[in-house]
Amino acid sequence: MKLSKIIPLLLLCMQTAFTGQLQVVATYGYIGDIVQRIGKDRVEVVVLARGDYNPHIIIPKPSYIAKLRRADLLIINGGQLEIGWLPQIIKQANNGAVQPGERGFLDLSMHVHLIDVPTSVSRELGDVHPEGNPHFFMDPDNIPVIAKAITERLSELDPDNQAFYEANNKELYALWQRNMKVWEEKLKPFKGEKVIEYHKIFDYFLNRFGFTIAGTIEPLPGIPPTTKHIADIEKLIEREQVKFIFQDVYNPQDASSYLSKRLNVKLIVLPHDVGAVKEADNVFSVFDEIIRRITQ
Ligand SMILES: [Zn+2]
Repeated sequence: MKLSKIIPLLLLCMQTAFTGQLQVVATYGYIGDIVQRIGKDRVEVVVLARGDYNPHIIIPKPSYIAKLRRADLLIINGGQLEIGWLPQIIKQANNGAVQPGERGFLDLSMHVHLIDVPTSVSRELGDVHPEGNPHFFMDPDNIPVIAKAITERLSELDPDNQAFYEANNKELYALWQRNMKVWEEKLKPFKGEKVIEYHKIFDYFLNRFGFTIAGTIEPLPGIPPTTKHIADIEKLIEREQVKFIFQDVYNPQDASSYLSKRLNVKLIVLPHDVGAVKEADNVFSVFDEIIRRITQ
């Protein structure tokens, strides 16, 4: 066969190999990992945000627009976590299939119970959690709920593979429940321990495993601490006999380090998403690593 005939044939084969693969864009690493576990080779997943960045303040790259332009499905965390960076990308990508309200748009926050939902919505004081705490991924019991929502949406967009997606979801569910038992066992001795966080990012995790949240170094979510607030936290740590300060990987650590050294409270830096630290490279290892760092 002549080369001139082989090349078009090859091109045709390459094209066929890619048809049928749903193009999914996920805003955060944890979403991408769950989609990959359910969709396996039937999906192509692109994650927009880097896991070691502040999820509220992702710096959009021009390449994000091209990625979204080709997408069949956009899956977001929601609860205003992406409000500062995603709307502009959606607008510029100009892809009718993934606009809010379309089947190609999935907002995970609509499927879980949000905590700290204020009675009146106001960003007046700069609070970056005006609709409640959006960091629900930190509750490991939310993973099966998220996985189910993703399974249903993939099945809706690609009904030929529904049984495949459902079987993968079932497998993920069983594996997740086994890990959950191990995590619960490891954290049993920590029930009731008092914790200070920098940002209200680990609340769902702390609530799930029975820690007590004594306070936060930020006076309001997204607002850096003042000297007065740090002095108040210092008194609170002594009064309440706080055992730990939990810090994320991206916020400044000087206030946490100061309090930790001065009052001899253990400061632990924890991952908040897939890719936040190198050990946390998937949804399972995020929780493995959080628990390893707390219990070691
Ligand atoms: Zn936040």
